[in-house]
Parts: sequence; structure tokens; C-alpha cells
Amino acid sequence: MHKRVVILGSTGSIGRSALDVAAALDHEIEVVGLTARRNWQSLAEQATRFNADVVAIADPAHRDDLQQACPPQTRVLAGPEGLTELVRTCEAGFVLSAIVGAAGLPATLAAVERGIDVGLANKESLVVAGGLLMPLAEERGCELIPVDSEHSAIFQALHAGRREDVRRIHLTASGGPFRAWTQEQIANATLADALSHPTWSMGPKITIDSATMMNKALEIIEARWLFGVSADQIDVLIHPESIIHSMVEFQDGSIIAQLGTPDMKTPIQYALTYPRRVSGIAEPLDWSEARSLRLEPPDFERFPALRLGYEAAREGGNSGAVLNAANESAVERFRAREIPFGQIVSLTEEVFRRRQPVAAPTFEELMASDAWAREEVGRCLRSYAE
Ligand code: NAD
Ligand code: MG
Repeated sequence: MHKRVVILGSTGSIGRSALDVAAALDHEIEVVGLTARRNWQSLAEQATRFNADVVAIADPAHRDDLQQACPPQTRVLAGPEGLTELVRTCEAGFVLSAIVGAAGLPATLAAVERGIDVGLANKESLVVAGGLLMPLAEERGCELIPVDSEHSAIFQALHAGRREDVRRIHLTASGGPFRAWTQEQIANATLADALSHPTWSMGPKITIDSATMMNKALEIIEARWLFGVSADQIDVLIHPESIIHSMVEFQDGSIIAQLGTPDMKTPIQYALTYPRRVSGIAEPLDWSEARSLRLEPPDFERFPALRLGYEAAREGGNSGAVLNAANESAVERFRAREIPFGQIVSLTEEVFRRRQPVAAPTFEELMASDAWAREEVGRCLRSYAE
């Protein structure tokens, strides 16, 4: 097997892990395209290391720096449209979508439009536009293979039975750093508290989403689109050890789970080699010591983001775009120390409540809902200040 691969967001946490996986499988994986937002130094190093055909940097201010630092044969593109152009023109059989946020949607959509198989880490693109991406993938005959660990687990467990025989999906969640904190402690958590995840090492945005549990809310919506189940067939289970990555329950009551160490290299590699399984660089689980695996229902009072996830998963339309954009904006403001931790979800909820539902939005309508939600976050904050 030989696969030519583009990695969108190659300088991030998932992107760097993916490059390590690809390097270990270099007899079958060829990295041909790489992208980043503004870290041109890392992008140029990666382009050199993998002898990439083409790279794209979203921030056009760094085009010249990048051009000078890249090998002469590497084509350099810039600006957000440079990323989509890379996907539209490269010769690749697989795109790993690992940009963070709704910013990952245009390039993901461009890959699906070309009928290229996508390994999807960028859950936000499904949260925003699952209603467009899923039917388009079907029409173009390409696969959307989940990289998110829970969805990779579900995707794998689904191979144990027929889709029509699925009863429920049990989405596991570590519970994040505030799993055992009181509501008051959570409200006043610092940025450092929110960035110290107990089991997973990830980029800052998803780490903060794990602390509010908005990450699980987004994953409920992601699962609804990926697997065609209803929101009411999905439950969330708190599993602090992050060993059981999720489970599928079939009509006969049998529950099939996928287990492993909390290391994203495993689902990244599975997406790259699917349907084959090969020996890779992730450490296997060590069973030589006794270990206990806890599972408990979530607390919707302390983690109200979960309710918003269910609501958007039930409603569909533009509700995911609004929820996601409001959350992205609130998280940015928390990282800029403009709002306290406790306000991330309350602000997101307030904007979510003010939305104008659109039942079957076009791409342009989704982008308009996204922009509206980001502006509405600012308007809410200004109204509090008055
Ligand atoms: P990260 O912040 O570490 O990396 C993000 C990457 O996207 C970087 O390469 C960055 O340059 C690029 N990027 C950011 N903003 C951009 C923009 N506006 N335009 C173009 N490129 C941009 O994030 P991450 O933790 O690697 O997460 C990436 C995605 O994978 C997210 O959607 C996240 O939810 C998902 N995911 C991550 C993990 C994990 O373990 N990190 C696990 C599951 C799912
Ligand atoms: Mg996940």
C-alpha cells in the first residue's frame, strides 16, 4: 500500500503526532502537503523533513519567510484560500483534517468535494456542517474516518454488528480536570487549572473544552452526524482513566468497546491504515498491574454544556454552527483573561438561546450563523458592562 497524505494543521498536537506516525510508516505513507496558521518555522522544518510537495500558511504575512525557509522544490501557498487551493490541487489520496475550530471547515469540505478520504480530527467541521458534509461524502464516494478517540472507538465497535441493530452509543469522557470540583470552584478556575488535563495531552482549545465538558457536547453532535444515530441514542459516561474509548450497545444488549492507552497516535494510525491494523509507535496497554476502570453518569448541573450538546444534536440545522462559534469566541476571551472560566458556558448558552433557527442551511448560511454568534458574544458582554 502506498498513500499520499496531506496534513492540515500539521504544527498542532494532532498534526505532530500524525507526522510521527507517518514517519514510522514511511514505507507506505508519503506526506505530500502540510499547513499551519502562522508557525512558519515549524512548517518549513516539517516540509524539509518530509520533502513535501506543497505547504500553505493561513497567515499571509508569513508567506515570504516560509518561502525562504522551505526547500526550493516545495510550492508555497498563503492565506485561508491557500489552504483550500492546496487541497483542491494536490495529488493526494488522504487528507488528515487537524486544524482546530470552524477554521478547518473550508479545507475539509474541499477534500470531500474532490472525493478524497478524510481522517477527521477537526470535530468542529462536523458540528458546524455535518448536514452538508455527510451527504456530500456519500455522493462523492469517500470516507470520513474519525480520529477523535471516542468516535474512532465507535467506528471500530460498529464493525461487530449491523448498523440497523445498534441500540445505543456510550460516549466516554474523562471528566476533565474539574470532574471532582464543586460548582463554585469550577466558576473561579484559573487558566492554568483549565489547561492541566488529567489524562490527555492536547492543544489548548480542546483542553479548555474538556474542562467545561463542551468537548463532550461537541462530540455528541459529531457522533450524531457520523453514525446517523439520534441524540437520544447517545449517552455520556464519565470514565476518569480514559482507557475505554467508547462503546456501542446492540439490540441484544451486547456492548462492544475499544480500549487502549490514552494516546492519539492509535486512532490517527488507524485512520491512516484503515481497514488494516499494523504495529505502530503507540505504547500498548500494560496489564501487568492491577487497574480499576470506573464508569459513572455525568453531572449536568456542574457541566451544563452537555445539555447544549444534546439540544443542538436534536435540532440540527444551524444550531451546531451557533453553539460552536459562541464557544470558540468565549474560549478565546477566557484565554485572553477577559472573562472568568465560569462564564464560558453561560455566555455560550445565552448566545445559543438568542439564535434564529435555520432548518436546512447552505454553507453561506452556516458561515453567517457562525459570524453572528461571534458578534453576539461581544454584544452580550457589552450589555453586561452597561
Ligand atoms: P492545536 O491547537 O494543537 O493545533 C491546531 C492546528 O491548526 C495548528 O497546526 C494550527 O497552526 C492550525 N490552525 C489553527 N487555527 C488555524 C486557522 N485559523 N487557519 C488555519 N490553520 C489553523 O490543536 P489540536 O489539539 O491538535 O486539535 C486539532 C483538532 O483535533 C481540533 O479540532 C480538536 O478538537 C481535534 N482533536 C484533538 C485531540 C488532541 O489530542 N489534541 C483529540 C481529539 C480531537
Ligand atoms: Mg475526543
